[in-house]
Order: sequence, then structure tokens, then C-alpha cells
Amino acid sequence: MEHVRDLTLLPKAHLHLHFTGSMRPSTLLELADKYGVRLPDALTAGEPPKLRATDERGWFRFQRLYDAARSCLREPDDIRRLVREAAEEDVRDGSGWLEIQVDPTSYAPLLGGMIPAVEIILDAVDAASRETGLGMRVLIAANRMKHPLDARTLARLAVRYADRGVVGFGLSNDERRGMARDFDRAFAIARDGGLLAAPHGGELTGPSSVRDCLDDLHAARIGHGVRAAEDPRLLQRLADRQITCEVCPASNVALGVYERPEDVPLRTLFEAGVPMALGADDPLLFGSRLAAQYEIARRHHGFTDAELAELARQSVRGSAAPDEVQAKLLAGIDDWLTG
Ligand SMILES: [Zn+2]
Repeated sequence: MEHVRDLTLLPKAHLHLHFTGSMRPSTLLELADKYGVRLPDALTAGEPPKLRATDERGWFRFQRLYDAARSCLREPDDIRRLVREAAEEDVRDGSGWLEIQVDPTSYAPLLGGMIPAVEIILDAVDAASRETGLGMRVLIAANRMKHPLDARTLARLAVRYADRGVVGFGLSNDERRGMARDFDRAFAIARDGGLLAAPHGGELTGPSSVRDCLDDLHAARIGHGVRAAEDPRLLQRLADRQITCEVCPASNVALGVYERPEDVPLRTLFEAGVPMALGADDPLLFGSRLAAQYEIARRHHGFTDAELAELARQSVRGSAAPDEVQAKLLAGIDDWLTG
């Protein structure tokens, strides 16, 4: 029998992980207990909740669960624990570089305001990185359900912390609401400040939302982007410009974007030459972490070890990791494949 290489040992970069969504389910239960928060049954059932995001009601329910989980993060200690555990889980899954995504607005009221919230988060990332040896950076993400002026304020804040670990600016929440171009000024501020533009697109809505991210926000990376598979010309454009799509297969299936793991168009993007960085999105709600995404590529899409190694390389090249970190990870990937 051919020996099966362990995907948790394949070095990779993790570029799509949300802050609260990275929490261990056991930690959520402990924190809820600590603060006397009564969690929705879907979060205490011991298995990932049944979700549906293909309509607004389903998406709303997903957001409600997310909000309930976030309401258990109240003190700097909780933030430090969340980030440290996210780093530990990533290391266990073979990640050598993690970019975690956060909208500090949601945490600001409990942490003393926006500036303290950002500082607590960045300090926590710094500490977790030192404790675990995992390279970590932060993407600050605006919420497209809020006013574009809020996004501009966030972009300015993100730029201000560019030398403290913020490497990118994102845009999340329901793609069906508002237009990408409403946020063009915020993204211009972020880009001018040297940040990487990485908005969500092509998840809940089709190829046009990916095009908008490219045309209006000058995205260097796309959160998800899988729906680009429906448009060959768009795939070509992503491939030509080497725009990395942060593809999250388990999330896509959990939210009903695709029915089954084999329906996620990993092959289509891969064959078209679109670089991908597989990500876990919200392991708390979807029940699987980073290595499991590569496992889906192997099991449901027949990716060979050489192809899985190439996926890992794409994740590293799409990251904001410094050259020496990238070189080390790429060498590790070669070792994994030849070992
Ligand atoms: Zn996401």
C-alpha cells in the first residue's frame, strides 16, 4: 500500500479565519458559563449547527449564532485565550503562518473602545505568536451591513496599526447587501496605507461580486471567490493576475453554498490556474479546521500529494508573510513531498 502523507504535517499558510469563529467549542461553553450567558441550543449541542445561508433568513440565523458566541468574549483575558488557542490549533494542523480577521467594532464596547480593542487584540496576537512560534498577523475587516463611513474610519485605524501587525483590510457579511463600490474610499485608504485588500466576494452571490471586488476595491485577494468558477473569463483574469482566492470548502458546504464537498469547484479553480489558500472560515460553527480543508481536496477531489503541496505553496505565496518566512515554509513543503 502506498504510504499516505499526513496533511497536518504539510506546512501551509492560513489566510481565512474569523476571530470569534476560531474559538474552540469547549472554550465557548466555559466562557458562557463564566458569564452566565444562555447560549442558543444550536451552540451547545456538541455538534456543528445546521445552517443555511442561501437565503437572508438563514444568513441572519448564522449571524445570530455568531453574535451569541461573540458576546462571551468580554475581558482582555478572553481575547488572549481565544488567540492563543487559535494559534495552537493552527500549529497542530501544520500552519506556519496565520492571518486572523477581525472587526474590532464588535469588541470595542466591552474592551473600552476601538483603540483599546485593537491594542488588546494585537498584543494577544503578539503573545500567542511568541508562545507558539506561529507567525501571525491581522486583517481588519469592515462590515458591509454598516455605513461606508464606518468602514473608512476602520481603514484609517487599520493603517495606523500597519507596523504593529495589521497587514490587510477586509469586508465581510452579507454580499447581497450594498455594493462593493460603496466601500471604495475605505479600500483606497487601506491600500494607500500599504495594506492588502482582501474583501469577501463570490460566496453568497455569483461572479459579478468577484468582479466588483477587483474593479471597485482593487482586491489583491478574495475571501472565498469560489463562484468565479461560473465564469471562465473571470477565472482567466484571476489566474492572469494571480489573485489568491481564500477558499473554505467546509464552510461552503455548511452554509449551503454547495450541496456536497465534491461540489465545491476546487478542481475548476485549480485547473484554471487560480491560486487558492484553503481556509477554515469559522471552525466554531462549521466543525472543521485547517488540515480538514486539504483533506476535502484529497478525498473528494482526488488531489494528489503533489497537487496538495502545490495548494499549500499557493497559500504561502498568497500570504503577507515576509520573504524569509515564505522561503522556509516552501522548503518545508518540498520536504513533506519528497520525505
Ligand atoms: Zn469569511
